[in-house]
Amino acid sequence: MEETEISRFSEAMVVIGNPQSLANKKAAIRDAGPGKLQVIVDFDATLTRYWVNGLRGQSSHGLLQQSNPEFDAKRRQLFEYYHPLEFSPTIPIEEKTALMEEWWGKAHALLIEGGVAYNDIKKSVANATLEFRDGVVELFSFLEVLRQKLYKSFKNVKIVSNWMTFDNDGRLVSFRGKTIHVLNKNEHAIDMAAPLHDQLGGIDGPTDGNDSVKKRTNVLLLGDHLGDLGMSDGLNYENRITVGFLNDNVEKSLEIYQKAFDVVFLNDAPMWGVVELVTEICSTGAAGGKDSSA
Ligand SMILES: [Mg+2]
Repeated sequence: MEETEISRFSEAMVVIGNPQSLANKKAAIRDAGPGKLQVIVDFDATLTRYWVNGLRGQSSHGLLQQSNPEFDAKRRQLFEYYHPLEFSPTIPIEEKTALMEEWWGKAHALLIEGGVAYNDIKKSVANATLEFRDGVVELFSFLEVLRQKLYKSFKNVKIVSNWMTFDNDGRLVSFRGKTIHVLNKNEHAIDMAAPLHDQLGGIDGPTDGNDSVKKRTNVLLLGDHLGDLGMSDGLNYENRITVGFLNDNVEKSLEIYQKAFDVVFLNDAPMWGVVELVTEICSTGAAGGKDSSA
């Protein structure tokens, strides 16, 4: 990707509400060095594209097809009812949180009741309308290079998610722990993900636990939903740059997004602007080693 192309993308699709504030945060994060930085990223419609070949990209929940179509239809009905509520600008947050818990609870129950199997999930992913934004691979590669060159003791990706439990026949039998939904995925949720990371182990040896993440007090947060801003709740951060992908209802939501996020990307933008941003905030001050103790 050439410089000029990156700039062209960012200019065409980016809205920055307060350039001075953004510049200050960038400088503070750059001065502290990459060892202090953590990137917190939402998955659906943030890493993935909102539109895929003219069709709405599917969410990780939405792509699941069970062998029993009756249950797919039931979950579809839930989506049609709850999805507009999820993005409604007028529902107070407590009420919305309760609605989202209700939705996730019902959807998970249908997956279990309908007997979704591990193989159904594999097949669903293969058939899904899902694509990562251009530049996602480059973003992850950049962060991985930083990790390898500077801070070897950190594992660099932690997944916060709902975890499925399957029986010996590969049937879904339960979801583990507290349900994580669109409005409660945050730094507290990472503790729930810990057992899986322990199990997978890291390429650098034994896991360093989640404390390492909590020592990284400068944050770059990427999301497509106002609720994604809560992903850094529970972390006592020093500086936080937030990037919002505004995928839909642009006219109605731009003002709110512009106030809530430091940078707003429009038009299902690729990830190049974020690659540019992360390169910038990691460009100097990389004295290294400052925070390499895990
Ligand atoms: Mg999302």
